[in-house]
Amino acid sequence: MRRWLGLGVLLWAVTACAGPNLWTDGSSVSVAKSNRGRVRHPAKLPLRGPGFRVPKRWKERGFQFGTDELVDAVARAAGRVNAADRRAVLGVADFSRNRGGPSKWHNSHHSGRDVDLLFYTTDAKGKPLPPPDEDMMTFDDEGVPYVGKRDKDGYRDPIWTERRFDARRNWELIEAMLVDPSIRLQWVFVSEGLKAKLLGWARRKHRPRWAIEYADMVLRQPADSLPHDNHFHIRVYCTRADRFHGCIDRGPVWQHEKKAFKYGGPERYDPVTWRRRLGTEPSPWREPPAGRGAMAGKAP
Ligand SMILES: [Zn+2]
Repeated sequence: MRRWLGLGVLLWAVTACAGPNLWTDGSSVSVAKSNRGRVRHPAKLPLRGPGFRVPKRWKERGFQFGTDELVDAVARAAGRVNAADRRAVLGVADFSRNRGGPSKWHNSHHSGRDVDLLFYTTDAKGKPLPPPDEDMMTFDDEGVPYVGKRDKDGYRDPIWTERRFDARRNWELIEAMLVDPSIRLQWVFVSEGLKAKLLGWARRKHRPRWAIEYADMVLRQPADSLPHDNHFHIRVYCTRADRFHGCIDRGPVWQHEKKAFKYGGPERYDPVTWRRRLGTEPSPWREPPAGRGAMAGKAP
């Protein structure tokens, strides 16, 4: 009897490892939805690196955990902006908490696919300024900071009145993330006014048309939450590998995404081939792909 029990346990252990959500290659897995999920084996963004830093307020909170792809992409994009101008330093606010899940700070940010980024700022003459330590400053449509309704106690940053929205570096950051083949942007939440400034800059500087069109699609002021005039909130789609393990996208799947527009780059493995090899059926808990417009403008 014992022997059979032992054999049963062994058999269970072997077969259990083959299914979705159970066996991975040790890389991060974004599980379920961005507003109801978690992240397994997350990557942690270092508190500083070439071209970025986690300012004090967010360092103390400790939300530096995201998927491998998103954490790497943010660091890479910041490095790229910094390579063009060493004074440009990105202030990185929250990814998810360790292993993800809910928090009192965010409605989403559950599954390692969201990150809040401070805006790059310059002084009035256009010289890049380091990120503030504790403030997310509210910017008007002209890119000038002001104390908004949410900023009850004003700002601690001694030079906040000198700061201006840096359309150039903020665009460079977004473009760097748009062209990064390891991620696919679903949303960059930002106010309409600042979006107009970014696209205006890109057009004037003759940035690639596809990048401007793509940015026009993903840059969005959410209809029913804060206008995001004090930071970018970025969300990426599930990777194909993570979809296999239960990652679920919400909201629209952009047309370019469906056609793999410009993004034919390799992913680490292909879940369809995998599934065939393993002989497993599509898992019943996987939702059908989200339709366009299902969540247009929905709160992050
Ligand atoms: Zn956010």
